[in-house]
Amino acid sequence: MKSAPPKIAGTQARFATIVLAAALAGVAAVIFFFNPATHAFYPVCQFHRLTGFNCPGCGMTRALFALLHGEVLLALHDNALFVLTLLALAIRAAWFGWNHHRGRPSGEFFPLKFLWPLLALALLFTVLRNLSAFAFLSP
Ligand SMILES: [Zn+2]
Repeated sequence: MKSAPPKIAGTQARFATIVLAAALAGVAAVIFFFNPATHAFYPVCQFHRLTGFNCPGCGMTRALFALLHGEVLLALHDNALFVLTLLALAIRAAWFGWNHHRGRPSGEFFPLKFLWPLLALALLFTVLRNLSAFAFLSP
């Protein structure tokens, strides 16, 4: 006989989702009101400080500031990988929401088979944005 799944797991997942969403909204609010280009309290990229090269995350805060103010092209200039990853996550979330709405299974949100290609893309992005021919990819 099959027993009912424990309800605590669903409750914990819902609570974790709410906490995560609140934390992300708080971070977005700080970035919205305090321009990273003019406020010094944001953390500095240690990779960039030590090497002078841009890591795949360099420019993410400025890109998010630009996105929150509707400046998509500036956000793409600051960190195209971040903006395109956000777009992919939004599309994936919409796909999940649509399937949930229609009562269809969606599978995993982020299948592990995407991890290595994403890491390879981040590595390629890092190399390219540090080459002078691809300076437009640097913040
Ligand atoms: Zn960096």
